[in-house]
Amino acid sequence: MTPFPGGKVRGSRVAVVGGSVAGCAAAIALARAGCAVTVFERSRGVLADRGFGIGLAGPAWQEFVDAGYFAAAMPALTCRSRWWVVPDPAAAETGRLAWRQPLDLRLTNWGLAWRGLRERVPDAVAWHTATVTGVRDTVAGVDVTADGATGRFDVVVGADGYASLVRRVAGGGRPGYAGYALWRGNYPVSRLGSLPPALRGAGVSVMFPGGHAVCYLIPGLPGAQTRVNWAVYLPLPRPAGLLSLPPGTVGDGLAAALDQVVETHFPPAWARVVRATTRAELALQPIYDLAVPRYAKGRLLLAGDAGALARPHAGGGVTKAIQDALALESACHEHPRWDTVLPAYDTARTAKGAELVALGRRLGAAQVGRTPEWTTMDEEGFRRWWHSTLDGRPR
Ligand SMILES: Cc1cc2nc3c(=O)[nH]c(=O)nc-3n(C[C@H](O)[C@H](O)[C@H](O)COP(=O)(O)OP(=O)(O)OC[C@H]3O[C@@H](n4cnc5c(N)ncnc54)[C@H](O)[C@@H]3O)c2cc1C
Repeated sequence: MTPFPGGKVRGSRVAVVGGSVAGCAAAIALARAGCAVTVFERSRGVLADRGFGIGLAGPAWQEFVDAGYFAAAMPALTCRSRWWVVPDPAAAETGRLAWRQPLDLRLTNWGLAWRGLRERVPDAVAWHTATVTGVRDTVAGVDVTADGATGRFDVVVGADGYASLVRRVAGGGRPGYAGYALWRGNYPVSRLGSLPPALRGAGVSVMFPGGHAVCYLIPGLPGAQTRVNWAVYLPLPRPAGLLSLPPGTVGDGLAAALDQVVETHFPPAWARVVRATTRAELALQPIYDLAVPRYAKGRLLLAGDAGALARPHAGGGVTKAIQDALALESACHEHPRWDTVLPAYDTARTAKGAELVALGRRLGAAQVGRTPEWTTMDEEGFRRWWHSTLDGRPR
């Protein structure tokens, strides 16, 4: 195994593979630590087309603003509660509100979060639009090959997402399929003639046998109106290597599977929210997850989804990607040399990543596939079910 490099952090040459959330945050952290940073991102231009809603806990949001990773003025909607809604003949139109769970969340648009981070990547960081095809960790340095040219770096950060090349080189394994997928969409709020009142200041979960839907409002991209954002989780056996289907590419069969569930189980008010989505806006995300045994190996370290890929139920992927960067920044400030930074980062983030993945699995198992009989649960039943799912112990 390549030993940890003993060189100084300040002045070292670091490559970051991937320029999405984790890559931008890592570039900010490393530039602050005095490294000469090069980012390799294969996509051109603005990564806003991945635009979907994300939620961050209020304290994490504030932490990122205080640390200068987010602008205080970044558009977000405050969400104070989550409404758990179950079908009920006595409230046929909207379903029954079984539990109004208090929350402190900031809801935003993935594209806005990425733009905010990208704007904060210092000009001194070299940004290459190029696909990394080779990473070779040697005693003398890491050779990174991108678009046919090879350069040598002291350390490489793999911020290259769920199918990470850097993770493969570091022996971090492959993501496993969870057995279900999420169908999702978002569209301008004006399309809904009348907005269900629950969507003002709250997120809504509509529960049905074998799955559930989540629905909330998010800010639009600059100059655009607020959007309705929804996701429906349903079992989907044997995806056979199915990757994400971007908006407009979901086939008839998968669109019909969603439609059937909406028809059968959704109270009409929430069926309308999903059905207001055009086929060009419908996307599908098979759910995979993975916790790596090591966040740092040799001269390679991992960040964001490359390090730990958690199911979206925990709503922690963006948060963890930025917290990875904060941990890296603080390790670089505490330790002047890479041979102490890398193990410190590895210890701090491997455990956090594994925790988030485990939480996503517990939440997924409880909310998709083996779901309880939602319709018989009252507020106390939901509260007990939620807390036992969170801490993994039946109550
Ligand atoms: C539907 C959905 C809802 C979610 N909701 C939430 C939420 O509410 N809250 C939350 O915190 N998180 C949420 N997440 C998770 C969050 O979106 C991700 O965790 C986060 O975007 C991961 O960022 P990343 O930078 O690690 O990876 P990615 O965004 O996947 O970025 C990887 C980047 O690496 C680039 N790349 C890959 N390979 C190469 C290569 N060989 N060469 C050059 N470039 C390369 C890619 O082009 C890409 O830009 C959600 C995810 C989904 C799918």
